[in-house]
Amino acid sequence: MNTTIHNEARQGEAFAPAAPETAETRKKFYIESYGCQMNFADSEIVASILGENGFGATRNFEEADLVLLNTCSIREKAEQTVRKRLTEFRKAKLRKPGMLVGVLGCMAERLKGKFLEEEKLVDLVVGPDAYRTLPGLVEEAEGGQKAVNVLLSREETYADISPVRLNSNGVTAFVSIMRGCNNMCSFCVVPFTRGRERSRDAQSIVQECTDLFNSGYREVTLLGQNVDSYYWMEESSLRTEERTAAINFALLLERVATISPLLRIRFSTSHPKDITDEVLHTIARYNNICNYIHLPVQSGSTRVLQLMNRTYTREWYQAKVDRIREIIPGCGITTDIIAGFCTETEEDHRDTLSLMEYSRYDYGYMFFYNERPGTLAARRYTDDIPEDVKKRRLQEIVDLQYRLSLESNQADVGKTVEVLIEGNSKKSDQEWMGRTSENKVIVFPKAGYHFNKGDYATVKVTGCNKATLMGNVTGGN
Ligand code: SAM
Ligand code: SF4
Repeated sequence: MNTTIHNEARQGEAFAPAAPETAETRKKFYIESYGCQMNFADSEIVASILGENGFGATRNFEEADLVLLNTCSIREKAEQTVRKRLTEFRKAKLRKPGMLVGVLGCMAERLKGKFLEEEKLVDLVVGPDAYRTLPGLVEEAEGGQKAVNVLLSREETYADISPVRLNSNGVTAFVSIMRGCNNMCSFCVVPFTRGRERSRDAQSIVQECTDLFNSGYREVTLLGQNVDSYYWMEESSLRTEERTAAINFALLLERVATISPLLRIRFSTSHPKDITDEVLHTIARYNNICNYIHLPVQSGSTRVLQLMNRTYTREWYQAKVDRIREIIPGCGITTDIIAGFCTETEEDHRDTLSLMEYSRYDYGYMFFYNERPGTLAARRYTDDIPEDVKKRRLQEIVDLQYRLSLESNQADVGKTVEVLIEGNSKKSDQEWMGRTSENKVIVFPKAGYHFNKGDYATVKVTGCNKATLMGNVTGGN
């Protein structure tokens, strides 16, 4: 459902070729992306930087001069997938001498130069704040030198770089509004791999969204690890004196919402400690800001939340859910949950299950705890929950979420909803697939109407399963 987080279906996705190759395109690059949507958005920035430097994209790594993997470190499994994939490039490299292999993103940042020792075939290691130096590093590597740049920055936001939209449905796009994270959730590697939090220039965000709208896009998702702490001091020279204005996340949302009522706005991720009433009221005020909030809870036990350094309690979280439902009736709410964090008891686990029931999530991203080197939890606590217990608890969480998702969808049957059409349904080109404002996937027959993707349709919900709504158009083209 939610595509802003870790989307299993997109892991390892390769870019389709960009615009037709030009005579200036000297060389070809191939890029595969793993992890969260931030990484996919970063790959679009990398594609833009390489495009400016004479590289054209290819979807076939065998013909590439430069093979890049944009990697994720959030769990060990994500790193193993990348290591396995690297072995597959070994043969290609033997067949094509001169081919360079580069590792980008969180794994590059976490392992730094160690990567070159561990994976002999890797020529380049480039951290998430160093992509502007990629063309120079490639040149260095072409000269036979292994190249590494993993410097983190306090300023880099790539604000001026216009991402190359590839593999896009032409309707929905992701726009990065900030980078890094200043929270120190004890289980999380992100603050170490992505550095300090910084917000991107508001004007460049509004410009990118406006450009997307003008080229036919109808939905933007504003991305950050903690969007509610977005903050930008805007300078303007009104009259003669210099003026500055502070733009927080609510104001940014408003600015993007006023580009056009036909442009839908989503955002991810909200931290329960930071999401404000001002943001909730802004969502309620604008019809085109979607009624949907991804609000990761991680655990339902106040004791565990404290160990996780989430800085809120169970009661605080419940009050946030109440507030969302009060200000935005019918708002879709999804979450992230970790099962089996250090010292978690059966009672703590039951607290998580009961908080899920309380919040009635529409969907959840559910994981069992995986200790990550260097994190606060790895240094302070023992990863003491046996794997079989973690897995059993996770299964109970998953089973409960399946029931909650089904019940949430069943409650929509009979309602009439506004749907933004994203393309054909997976199963049939006789059906459209789109999303409701609450981020639920809905499919409906095309017959009798002349919609195109990017259009809005009014659809009556006639049936569902736990993942998808089904419906029929009640009006429109
Ligand atoms: N910034 C977001 C937030 O605060 O929720 C999400 C960051 S992270 C990329 C996405 C999710 O991965 C987290 O919400 C958490 O549930 C999960 N996660 C992070 N570290 C983990 C770990 N060590 N073990 C298991 N799951 C983890
Ligand atoms: Fe990780 Fe917490 Fe930052 Fe999210 S808010 S990226 S979970 S440290």
